[in-house]
Amino acid sequence: MKTKFEEIASQICDCHVHYGQFREDYYDPEQVVKWFDELGIDKVGIMPVGTSLVSDFYRDQKIMTSLPIERFVPYLWVSPEMVDAAPTLALYNTLNYKVIKIHAYAIKEWDKMPDKIRTVIEVAYNKGVPVMFHTGGWRGSNAIQFYKFCREYPEVTFILAHGKPISQTLTVLKGAKNAYTDSSFMAIESMKLICDAGLSDRILFGTDFPIMKTFWPEISLIDWYKNNVMELIQTFGEKDFMVWAHENFYKLILKR
Ligand SMILES: [Zn+2]
Repeated sequence: MKTKFEEIASQICDCHVHYGQFREDYYDPEQVVKWFDELGIDKVGIMPVGTSLVSDFYRDQKIMTSLPIERFVPYLWVSPEMVDAAPTLALYNTLNYKVIKIHAYAIKEWDKMPDKIRTVIEVAYNKGVPVMFHTGGWRGSNAIQFYKFCREYPEVTFILAHGKPISQTLTVLKGAKNAYTDSSFMAIESMKLICDAGLSDRILFGTDFPIMKTFWPEISLIDWYKNNVMELIQTFGEKDFMVWAHENFYKLILKR
């Protein structure tokens, strides 16, 4: 008999997955492919780990375009230097990316470059792809910092990854219909606050897989993943979960 996870796996899309070096751990892209073969989910939004100031787009493009295209959806992880090199970001079109990621915790200089962030948002607008901001960790990457951009560009979809701090995330979600958050490293209590505010449909399912292994080395990543999905379904119901894990991914990221 199939488990509940196995029953629904082929419909699940995870909007926030990494490969590469995170602190002491290297997450080999080929191993990431194998883990998702085992999990059997539908789509995986993939990007390098954003902790290095040195961007190596050509290496990352080679890796991301080698991943099975039926499952893996490449994201462009953008640094200020990449914007300086080509403000249209046209150099990176060959990646066929579906989301642009700005990480103002890994690269704190972003906080002093709002106009450079606007340049990136304008590229996203022209290409019709969402902008994902890492949120949390310090003042310069807290959710409220991105509120102004959500308001200035109502036609662009913004994803506040992690939704931290949650109070600020609620403010942004309430004030900007084009703002979304993802469930990666988000506490169940925070997700309840979003749902209680009537904003459940603004969540995307995301995990930050596999870097939880760095924080909790003893876990089995496969078990962790299945348990995470089942906890969300048991707490919020399958209907809401499928909006986060399927409908929103297809609507906002794959645009179908
Ligand atoms: Zn992440």
